[in-house]
Amino acid sequence: MQTIRTLNARKRIALVAHDNKKKDLIEWAKYNKAALARHELYATGTTGKMMEEELDRPVRKLMSGPLGGDQQIGSMIAQGEVDVLIFFWDPMEPQPHDPDIKALLRLGVVWNIPMACDRATADFMLTSPLMHQEYNTQVPDYQAYLSRKV
Ligand code: PGA
Repeated sequence: MQTIRTLNARKRIALVAHDNKKKDLIEWAKYNKAALARHELYATGTTGKMMEEELDRPVRKLMSGPLGGDQQIGSMIAQGEVDVLIFFWDPMEPQPHDPDIKALLRLGVVWNIPMACDRATADFMLTSPLMHQEYNTQVPDYQAYLSRKV
């Protein structure tokens, strides 16, 4: 059995990019400025600051990733406060907050939200008609887990 979570036409998009990927994310966001204007943006601290400067629009900034920003976004996903995650993580360099990164990616799947971890997927996602209309995401029913006998 599944439960439904409705993602509104105006999505709450969380953006995160590791240092070597920030240029890529900013370029992508500038190119897609018009499409992104239809949504609310959230980001980890440094990514958000750069995004605000480059896009000249407000971005709700959380803490910097390694200081807790990834965990804040994970918690927002769990609470249904973030609809979409665009996370350009760096596959070539170890990160000090590796467990937080894994936790964030895990929660995205737990709650079945659209997630893009590279630019190609972000392009496909942003050009999908579903991005700009209401969408019912099917969340697995975790009731059996919650009522398990331990
Ligand atoms: P930052 O965090 O945007 O503050 O650099 C990104 C991250 O490493 O998660």
